[in-house]
Parts: sequence; structure tokens; C-alpha cells
Amino acid sequence: MKFHKNITGGPVTLPTAAVKLCGLEAGGKAELHALEGAAVLMKASMNAMELIHALDSLHQLTVDLAVHLIKVCGPCDGCGGECPFGDFSYEEITLPDDLREEAGIPAGVKLCAYADEEENSITICEAGYDNDLRDVPEYLLKMLENIGICMGELEERLMVGDTVYGA
Ligand SMILES: [Zn+2]
Repeated sequence: MKFHKNITGGPVTLPTAAVKLCGLEAGGKAELHALEGAAVLMKASMNAMELIHALDSLHQLTVDLAVHLIKVCGPCDGCGGECPFGDFSYEEITLPDDLREEAGIPAGVKLCAYADEEENSITICEAGYDNDLRDVPEYLLKMLENIGICMGELEERLMVGDTVYGA
């Protein structure tokens, strides 16, 4: 079950109903896992069945989030050859430091490469955005690719950085 909380900067209190639903009892101990993008509160001491329930619940949440992203991006119908799905290279583009400095590109920024077939040249420049498919963990990319999500649409969402979940 989902509860909505406004983050004020102060301590976050949990609704009693939510704590009860999680199987946490008064007097018991809980573990708060502060993760990147999520926080998980669970019993600090569990028997095998309770651990299975926690595993199953977290797995279900993972599946729900993936299904949500798949719905947002939609399936790939080829995208008129514009979709990087299938032939996208996930390799990091690197530049020698002296060349990068000469071009005035700060260290650590994301780089992009454009090939020009007529000039037989490759232009490497600052990407101008923070995230793309290269920032998605390999195992998640493989999973989403196998499901048939439109990688072009996913990359677009990553580059634009707009809200894809909630308001
Ligand atoms: Zn596509």
C-alpha cells in the first residue's frame, strides 16, 4: 500500500496504519535502509517466512516500477531507424586530458561523439545533458531491452530529465 508524505526537511513520521501493515510491532526494532532514490523500513529481526515476505514485497515493487517505465516509454516499433535499440554502443567516450583542456571542456562532463561520413571525421563535444543510456546499470538495460521497451524513447526521457513517475 502506498502512503504519500511531504518532505519538509525535518524528521519524517510514519502513519501508524503503515507501520502496522508492514508487520512492525510496538516495542520491536526496525531497520531503515537509506538507498539511492528510496528508503526501506523493515523488521530488524525476521524468521524465514517474514524474510520471504519482505523479499516478495520488494520484488513486486521493483516489477511495478519497471512496468511503469515500460508504459511511459512504450514498445519499440523501429522508430524509423532513429532508435538506438539494438545497435547502441554503451562505451564511454574518453579524451586525452590535454586535448580536452585545449577545447575548454571541464573534466568529468559527459561527452558525445558525432560521425560525419562525408568528411570522414568524428566530432567529440560536451553532451549538454546529464544522463543517457550509459548511466543505466547494464543488467537493467538488458532486462528492458529483452522486454522490448523503446530504447530511443527511454534515452530521450533520460536526456530531458522530465518527471516520468508521479506529478
Ligand atoms: Zn524505439
